[in-house]
Amino acid sequence: MASRDAPCADGEGPTGNEPDQEPRSPCTPPKGTCASPTGACAAPPPSPPCAPGGSRDPQCTAGPSGAPEGAVGGSWRPNTVEEFLGMKGVEQMFAVTPLPWCPHLTEVRPLPSRGLDAGAPCAVCGSTAENWVCLTCYTVCCSRFVEEHMLYHRLETEHNLVLSYSDLSVWCYACDSYVDNRIIFPHKNAAHISKFGEALPGMP
Ligand SMILES: [Zn+2]
Ligand SMILES: [Zn+2]
Ligand SMILES: [Zn+2]
Repeated sequence: MASRDAPCADGEGPTGNEPDQEPRSPCTPPKGTCASPTGACAAPPPSPPCAPGGSRDPQCTAGPSGAPEGAVGGSWRPNTVEEFLGMKGVEQMFAVTPLPWCPHLTEVRPLPSRGLDAGAPCAVCGSTAENWVCLTCYTVCCSRFVEEHMLYHRLETEHNLVLSYSDLSVWCYACDSYVDNRIIFPHKNAAHISKFGEALPGMP
């Protein structure tokens, strides 16, 4: 009973310039201010994962990094043939991302045994400027930038998927989008062989 510090043998004592704030319980240091030399209490509370710099701004728990930016462009769809025809060049404004799949891929017929002829003329007007080949019946027709005979072919036949002999992209009229799927890789490859004399990179 000599000293009030005596019962509290472990560690104790103000280590720095901070005296005990709660003198009534000298043996049980206030939580979070333990002066133990082991440092067990010294760790700060975990900081939010989005604040690697150590900032504890409470707003950071709703950090902006995960917020999705709205889809950009590409949502406009023509409702009439007139609007569609008016799209000349418009697609170049879009950051074109092909669909990985579309329901019309089932319309694609196997490649003809003769392969594809990327130099074939339009079946209607004979143009060789910029043609597409229908992946259902393999008719070759010119693009909307020439005389739009592939568009007319689609309107007459409802064959939706066509392959460009210009850039080997595949367009689906029904989905109003480019499509890229392994189903049509052989077709792109055949067109590439015809056009450049060699297979597509990565194709046998
Ligand atoms: Zn066709
Ligand atoms: Zn034509
Ligand atoms: Zn489609």
